[in-house]
Amino acid sequence: MGNDDNRRRKTPCGCCMSVFKWIPVLFIFAVIGWSYYAYVVELCVLNTENRVAMIFMLFFYHITLILFLWSYWKTISTSVGRVPDHWRIPDEEVNHLFRADNPETQKRILNNFARNLPVTNRTMNGSVRFCDKCKIIKPDRSHHCSVCSCCVLKMDHHCPWVNNCVNFFNYKFFVLFLGYALIYCLYVAFTTLHDFIQFWQGQLNGSGMGRFHILFLFFISIMFAISLVSLFGYHIYLVLVNRTTLESFRAPVFRIGGPDKNGYNLGRYANFCEVFGDDWQYWFLPIFTSKGDGLSYPTATEQTGNQSYDAMGHTNHSTANRLDVQPTDKLIDAIPLNNHQPHLELDNGQRIPSSQVIVNIEQRVAEASAAAATTAADSCNVVIDLIGDQTAAKDAAVLNGGHPLSANGTADKIV
Ligand SMILES: [Zn+2]
Ligand SMILES: [Zn+2]
Repeated sequence: MGNDDNRRRKTPCGCCMSVFKWIPVLFIFAVIGWSYYAYVVELCVLNTENRVAMIFMLFFYHITLILFLWSYWKTISTSVGRVPDHWRIPDEEVNHLFRADNPETQKRILNNFARNLPVTNRTMNGSVRFCDKCKIIKPDRSHHCSVCSCCVLKMDHHCPWVNNCVNFFNYKFFVLFLGYALIYCLYVAFTTLHDFIQFWQGQLNGSGMGRFHILFLFFISIMFAISLVSLFGYHIYLVLVNRTTLESFRAPVFRIGGPDKNGYNLGRYANFCEVFGDDWQYWFLPIFTSKGDGLSYPTATEQTGNQSYDAMGHTNHSTANRLDVQPTDKLIDAIPLNNHQPHLELDNGQRIPSSQVIVNIEQRVAEASAAAATTAADSCNVVIDLIGDQTAAKDAAVLNGGHPLSANGTADKIV
């Protein structure tokens, strides 16, 4: 069943709702249209005697307006995208999942299906995240939007003012839209301030209605600027800490480490480039330059080894990497492999891709316990990797010279 199939069917009531949802957008366009008339006709053409000043005012006004409308339209018109088919759970598996008699069985089914998917996020009970409406494994940072009726990649929030979900594909456009809307309002307010003062001094020329157009233009631009400055400031903050609005209210839960609001915080500049791209020439244009595919994201610990960043970008030293595995991490059957290829590094320098080294966790813990009888301290250094079933564990043993990665410290770390 595809995402599209899950979208609300177009009944007469559904059509009415669709029209209703465009009302905020139409309202914004109506305000922009009126402000264009008030600024260009009433203020510049009819009320500005200095022709040079008028040309300068109109020139910068139109530059700002074009960037504002361009980013606004891109935010509205960019599709939320769709989760690729290989994230979808076949109907047969879904039936097994729904028929499972306990949560542990469901976890096992989900973790097994997500074995080769780059997911690090989990539910609070440690299971791979699953959308029962779209029948898919939820990619990291994605959420199901009840308005769009589908799972949305890196969902920030559903915004009625753009009648769209703010998500991975249009987040840059949305931030630019807020920024250019703010600049537009401030520019209009600044250039109408002189006429506003003249009005109170009784010196403003023009007809009665013309004067009120200019006065309203000043008031409305100030009013929108005040509301935009807080919203724009908040989203700049979110960009700099690499967090979505949803994540700021509820921290993502990681497979290793649990809930962590700063799990994607790579440092301010790197966070900014995640959304705006590496090429500064495109930073201020509503052209898609965000990094990644929207399905997987570099994490703070993955990016910086054993360092993570706090909300202000300061570094903290943590003991666990997202890709490390702990003996207590029994829920884990898979590790993300897409844009990072973890491997085991042995004492003798041999590096073994972890995708080929599969060790049953509980078996390893048992072995560690046995070894502890002679080398108790060594059992603490057991590195246990992942993706596991018994057959693959045998393969791992072959890879390791016929001896499974043992508790005697032959495997030290996952890089
Ligand atoms: Zn969904
Ligand atoms: Zn939505």
